[in-house]
Amino acid sequence: MSERARAEIHPAALRHNLTVVRRLAPGRRVYAAVKADAYGHGVARLAGALADADGLAVASLAELQALRTAGLTQPTVLLSDVLDGDLSALTADPEAEPLIFSTAQFDRLAAIAAEYPRRVWIKLDTGMHRLGFAPEQAAGLHQRVAATPGLTLAGWMTHLGCADDPDDPMTTQQVTFFDSALASLPGHRSIANSAGICAWPRTHADLVRPGIMLYGGSPLLDRSAADLGLKPAMTLTAPLISCTEIAAGEPVGYGATWRAPETMPVGVVAIGYGDGYPRHAPSGTPASLDGAPTPLVGRVSMDMLTVDLRRAPDARVGDRVELWGTDVPADTVARAAGTIAYELFCRLTARVNFRVDQG
Ligand SMILES: *Cc1c(COP(=O)(O)O)cnc(C)c1O
Repeated sequence: MSERARAEIHPAALRHNLTVVRRLAPGRRVYAAVKADAYGHGVARLAGALADADGLAVASLAELQALRTAGLTQPTVLLSDVLDGDLSALTADPEAEPLIFSTAQFDRLAAIAAEYPRRVWIKLDTGMHRLGFAPEQAAGLHQRVAATPGLTLAGWMTHLGCADDPDDPMTTQQVTFFDSALASLPGHRSIANSAGICAWPRTHADLVRPGIMLYGGSPLLDRSAADLGLKPAMTLTAPLISCTEIAAGEPVGYGATWRAPETMPVGVVAIGYGDGYPRHAPSGTPASLDGAPTPLVGRVSMDMLTVDLRRAPDARVGDRVELWGTDVPADTVARAAGTIAYELFCRLTARVNFRVDQG
């Protein structure tokens, strides 16, 4: 029973979720977003399944190197690296595809392009106003790529700001800006993240960039991951280290924020915010024991949290409680804690013991 928090990673689920992407966006190339070490799952743990993607997307050259070390060789777009430091990881890697979103970046790549030929993506800002050139600049950028020996245009990208809401008009507006800016220009187009893939067929274009849906999270506000046919790529569990009877009216945990409505069994689970479980998850946040609901009661502390065992009367010390996974969607825990599953996955700490489910 010595193992505390455990994150079991399921490569077979990621493989399945990739088939969901291909079914929704048939014929499109698929670049899997694996930034932040595959959304906290571990690129190396998922490498076998990620090899099925046509390409990958990372945030930085350091992340690029990590996935090459894991044996992944596909074309890989660098989504947000500014490329102002040591470029040896880039020059050594012909399958690395920088995404150009600023003139400074363009200058740096152009300066070395004759010696290190390179496919590049160009990012257009169609309304999210984070990264990218104004759509009116597209023709000039295209001319500059064409005029720079060693640079080849991989294609054009933009990113959607509100695609998780199927009623938000911004997505259609972004697609319209993108299409009209590029109407007379050659090159592949890529718009869709997971939300675009699931809810906006017009965004599928030539290449899609799924992230959260590959890990089994829902990208949409109004649909669950199960509704979308997605399977969780991570199951987070931790053992019960104590089961006690709490008398009616007695409080549990810091701040005495919760009191037992009746005399009832409460379990102490060996996971807390020191493991990356969100401290803001309130009483009532779902957890489960062998399929029986065991919602949180009281505040989450650093090393422990407490759960209601009324519906798991046979629970014993050593039994493992699921914090998220198959029975408890990470999306519902995230919603209860005022965040998103992306952040829950990325924030697990080094104290969590990761294992790969070989099944
Ligand atoms: C992270 C990211 C994606 C994937 O987003 P999801 O919502 O996880 O599908 C796609 N494109 C860009 C530019 C990204 O940064």
